Amino acid sequence: MKTAIVTGASRGIGAATAQKLAQKGYLVIINYNNSQKHAQEVCDKINSSGGMAVCFKADVSCPKEVNAMTDYVVSTYGGIDLAVANAGIGKNAMLTDMTDEEISAIIDTNLKGVITFSRECAKSMLHHHNGNIITVASMWGQTGASCESVYSASKGGIIAFTKALAKELGANGVRVNCVSPGLIDTDINSNLTKEDKLALIREIPLSRIGSPDDVADAICWLADEKSAYITGQVLSVNGGMVI
Ligand code: NAP
Repeated sequence: MKTAIVTGASRGIGAATAQKLAQKGYLVIINYNNSQKHAQEVCDKINSSGGMAVCFKADVSCPKEVNAMTDYVVSTYGGIDLAVANAGIGKNAMLTDMTDEEISAIIDTNLKGVITFSRECAKSMLHHHNGNIITVASMWGQTGASCESVYSASKGGIIAFTKALAKELGANGVRVNCVSPGLIDTDINSNLTKEDKLALIREIPLSRIGSPDDVADAICWLADEKSAYITGQVLSVNGGMVI
């Protein structure tokens, strides 16, 4: 059975991805940090519908916790076939109003977290000459967003990291791609009012907010052998908002 780790799988895009990967036959490690109850619910849902999942708490901004998680998966299940680096946080504020702590939290979770998680998974994948890493960026990492400059920087960094790592690992049978979501209906956007959302929908050619399943389907496609000749790419899932 193939093994997949999905970071930030307790809620939103990660939870939807974990469920779809389990339906495709992966044993899924549901990584979470704060939302133990939600992570357990995702896990129970998968296990009660014939799939296989386990929860693992690890703060992706802490390399030691990331190491503990990947070591556990490799020693228990023999390797990591698929790594989905999805966990992330946002903060809507003027740069001049942001504290050092807030800046560090975003960079350490969104960018350093993706880097250290990918590094640990890549060690196992290189050993097996096979593997698949999928990072989750954002359209703001492609265009930049006002009042989300640090978030945009973290996501732009993920895109550059994905392209570089794909070149580094390709010869050893490891693919690395990025999914770049637009506006998706999850908790990360709970700060938006109904009016904010309607204004944003007017800018989306497909005239709707995306669902976690929209992004999860793109991740599952990049995980599939049908995309076997694709690496180093950024797949936008944004309803045409950013082209
Ligand atoms: P969400 O519903 O807020 O979920 C975020 C997930 O990340 C949660 O499962 C959370 O786990 C986890 N997480 C946060 N910090 C973590 C940490 N330090 N260690 C481990 N897990 C951590 O948001 P979402 O929309 O699904 O976001 C998923 C990814 O998509 C993020 O990288 C986000 O930047 C990106 N994205 C989202 C949108 C959008 O519009 N929704 C657009 C572009 C990109 P706990 O609750 O257990 O801590």
